[in-house]
Formats: sequence, structure tokens, C-alpha cells
Amino acid sequence: MSLNFSPSQPCRIQQVPGWDLETDVTVVGFGAAGACAAIEAAGAGAAVTLLEAASGNGGTSALSGGEIYLGGSGGTPAQRQAGFSDETEDLFRYLMMAGGADADEAKVRRYAENSLAHHDWLVAQGVVYKNTFLPERMLEPVTDDCLIWSGSEEAWPFVERARPCPRGHTPQWDGWGGGRMLMDALAARVEQLGVEIRYDSRVLALIADDANHVHGVVVRMDGRICFARARNGVILCAGGFVMNRDMVRRHAPHLMRSGDPIGTPGDDGTGILLGMSVGGASIHMDQAFLSLPFYAPESLLKGVFINERGQRFINEDCYHGRVGYHIMQQTGDRIFLLLDNATYQPPAEFTRIQIAAAGETWEEVERDLGLPEGALVSTVALYNRHAADGNDPLFHKGARWLKPLDEPPFVALDCRVDYAMYPHFTLGGLDTLPSGEVVTEKRQPIGGLYAAGRTTCGLPRWGGGYSSGLSLADATFFGRQAGSSAAKARNRHPADVMAG
Ligand SMILES: Cc1cc2nc3c(=O)[nH]c(=O)nc-3n(C[C@H](O)[C@H](O)[C@H](O)COP(=O)(O)OP(=O)(O)OC[C@H]3O[C@@H](n4cnc5c(N)ncnc54)[C@H](O)[C@@H]3O)c2cc1C
Repeated sequence: MSLNFSPSQPCRIQQVPGWDLETDVTVVGFGAAGACAAIEAAGAGAAVTLLEAASGNGGTSALSGGEIYLGGSGGTPAQRQAGFSDETEDLFRYLMMAGGADADEAKVRRYAENSLAHHDWLVAQGVVYKNTFLPERMLEPVTDDCLIWSGSEEAWPFVERARPCPRGHTPQWDGWGGGRMLMDALAARVEQLGVEIRYDSRVLALIADDANHVHGVVVRMDGRICFARARNGVILCAGGFVMNRDMVRRHAPHLMRSGDPIGTPGDDGTGILLGMSVGGASIHMDQAFLSLPFYAPESLLKGVFINERGQRFINEDCYHGRVGYHIMQQTGDRIFLLLDNATYQPPAEFTRIQIAAAGETWEEVERDLGLPEGALVSTVALYNRHAADGNDPLFHKGARWLKPLDEPPFVALDCRVDYAMYPHFTLGGLDTLPSGEVVTEKRQPIGGLYAAGRTTCGLPRWGGGYSSGLSLADATFFGRQAGSSAAKARNRHPADVMAG
């Protein structure tokens, strides 16, 4: 028998020499999606085996800020304590806009209606929230506080269609990196429920019958090839593909312009390839969270972004990931953030945003940057004229952030795509139903196959609408849906279809 297994080609069940392991539900990947899938499946009474390629749990989820996008149903304790009541329909409308033209209405509806209950579930698993609110614009709290504005809720055009409410919830954890705390709580629960956890276990291929119904996985466990049967189904929670540069080049080539993919080596696209090997559809593979993390300090939101033609292209008060999305739509890598003496503060060092030019007049700055004569100057003049009246007729920046850039000295910050930090991870992946079932191009469920997290394309599916907390909201909530669906599925195919 050949031992050359590939995620892109299923092992046919007739080739299985015998089962080395048997369980009801096999979960592939022990990040947030996998942990939540395992908790729900085990809680529903299924025997669950969790296979993780690394030597410990966490994946990219443990590296993350741990921030989760939550709200609706009147508001979470943190929202209510801060004086916000978050209506489900506002959360629904925001998420529909955030999902872009192909937002998955069924998933958005299910999430909007159950987001508050999901918050309570997370707390019941041991995730701790301090329930305090920080009103300033920031990437993540550097303290152990909880609630922040983590998207474009107050910015045009979102503000026109959904009543704004802060929804980014970060666990009580000092500094960045609350994802470790989130994972510690979820992993403890997984262990408590008696899930069989196998580390150093890389899934190499799915095992499927000729109708592509999935019966298990081929896994390399401690250096040995094993055939693991999943009586109810396999749940793929193996992360995204940002670390697979071949896949990125093929599906999202614009990401190659930045040198800052973020995640773990596990984000190598295996989960997506496994699903595709049995006919799973992959969608929105070109979409990514790609950010220019230019704030805090929040006074930088009062600046003006221009492209290499000196033209403005975005309301600067929207979420940094939306700014990044629009930067990638510009021709050329040269992007500048213009500020005056009153608004300038140095951006964080890790952003690699530095001063490109400074001068006593905007003409001087324009000359230093080598831009076409009058291009920058007329952009600033138009902006200043309307900002003085509290208006932004071109991009509708909120009045709170409008201030004429008229106090010298003036500065242009260098946000070049090929130099400044543009962290990114992928949003495309397997198409699934809200139940977590993986579907074909015709949206027919594939028997025995489920998926969640960045292996799938879920709530976040458009870079222009991404908001911090959406990936983990999607991974944890739809991980749970997949776990509970797989636990309910019962041996639809007899074990012994395999040839002896
Ligand atoms: C620095 C940083 C900060 C972030 N902050 C936030 C935030 O605050 N909020 C938010 O919503 N999102 C955030 N994100 C994004 C978010 O962390 C991820 O999108 C999310 O954690 C993905 O979860 P997951 O369960 O799908 O994948 P992961 O957590 O990556 O888990 C996948 C697991 O599968 C394993 N695996 C892969 N292939 C195999 C295989 N063949 N066999 C067995 N196991 C395999 C991997 O080793 C990994 O452990 C951040 C990302 C980064 C990098």
C-alpha cells in the first residue's frame, strides 16, 4: 500500500487495512474552533477524539488578542454597564454589511440572535470578562479591560444603517494576547469532558467512500501512519492558509505585496485542501483581514490618507482593517498619512510607519514627496475647507475627527505597502451551512464532513468589512454548531463497507 497520502486526495475506504482508532467524532485542530466543536460534541454524549499536529493546544487562537465580537438581545453585561443597549437587528444589519455583497444571511441571522447566549456560554466555560469599557480608539486594550470599539460601527457607511455599539470583548488579561487565556479556559473544559486529545498528530488525508461520504482520517501519530474511524463525522478546524505561500499566490496574490502574514505554521491550508478533496466548495479565497494598524494614538485618525497621486480615498475614522483593504485597492505602493502640528503623534514603533517628509507649508511636503504639482495641496485645501465647517462631503468622516490640517509644521507619514507593517490572515475557505456541514458547489452537504473557523468562510468574508473579534466569534460559535451537528449524526454508513 502506498504511504504517500495527500490532503488533496482522499484515501478510499477500500484501501484501509483496518482501523487503528475508532470514535464518534474526530476533530482536526485544537484551536478555538476545534475546542468549541469538541466541547459541544462531547457535551452531547459523543465520543470525541481531537487530533492536533502541534505538540500543544492553541493554534493561532492562542496567539490572538482573544477579542470576540458579541452583542445583540439588549446587550452583554459589559455593553449594558457602559450604557449601551445593543439590539439584535442592529447587530444583524452591521454583520450583513460587514460580510459584504455575499454575506451569509443564514449564518448572520443565527449569530445575531444567539450572540448574547454565546457570551454566556463562553463565561460558563471559564472565560473571564472584567466588563469595563474603554471608549478610545485602539487595536486592543493594553490593560485587563474588556469592551472596545473594534470595527467601523461609528463610521460611514455603517453608521447610517445600524445603530453603533461597541462589541469587541477581550478577556480579563493584562496586555495584548488574551487568546492564551481564552484557549486555557476552553482547553480545560475539553479535558474535563473526557475528550481524547492526541498531540503530534497530523491529519494527512480524509477517508471517504466512492460517494465521497467521509468515514475518518489518515493521521501520522508519533511518526506512525494510523487509520482513524469517525462513526459520526470529521470536523475540520485546522486554521487558514496564510502560511501556505503557494496557495496565497494562487488565490490572494495581492497579499504577496506585504511581508507580514500572521498566524502559526499550522495555517498551511491543509484543512481547506482536505475538504476540497471530497468535493467541498471553497469560497472568497481572495479575501483577507489586512490592516495598517496606524492607531492608537487616536489623534492620527484626524489625518488624511493619500495615494501616490495625492488623492484621498477613505474616511480615516473607519476600522484599520478597512483602511488596509482600501489601501490595497490603490495603484502603487506609496501611501501617506498627512498630519499637522496639532494632530501628529508618533505611531507605534512596530508599525514601521516613519516620517517621509515635513515642511512649513503643504507645498514643501508635496515637493519633498515628488508628487505632481498641486495634487496634495488641492486635496488638503478641499479637506480643510469642509473640515472647518464640520463636513466631509467626499467620504463622510465623522465630525468628531474633522479638523483642518492648518497648523505648521506639516508632516507626511510613510505607509508604503512594501515597508510598513500590514499584518494579514486569510478569510476564504470551505463553504458550510450554519450547522457546520461542508457543502459542494451546489450547496449539497457532504456526508460525514463538518468544518469551522478559518478553514471555512464564515461571518467574516470580506476584507472591507472585517472587524476585530469577528474571526473568533465565528470560530467559537460555528465550532459549537459543527460539534453539536456531528454529535447528532448517527452511523449513517455501516463500518464494514471497507474491504477486508
Ligand atoms: C496576532 C493575532 C491576533 C489576533 N487577534 C484576534 C482577535 O483578537 N480576535 C479575533 O477574532 N481574531 C483574532 N485573530 C485571528 C484569529 O486568531 C484566528 O483567525 C482564529 O484564532 C482562527 O481559529 P481556528 O480555530 O480556525 O484556527 P487555529 O486557532 O489556528 O487552530 C487550528 C489548529 O489546527 C492545527 N492543524 C492544522 N493542520 C492540521 C492537521 N493537518 N492535522 C492536525 N492539526 C492541524 C493547527 O496546528 C492549529 O492548532 C488574530 C490573529 C493573530 C495572528
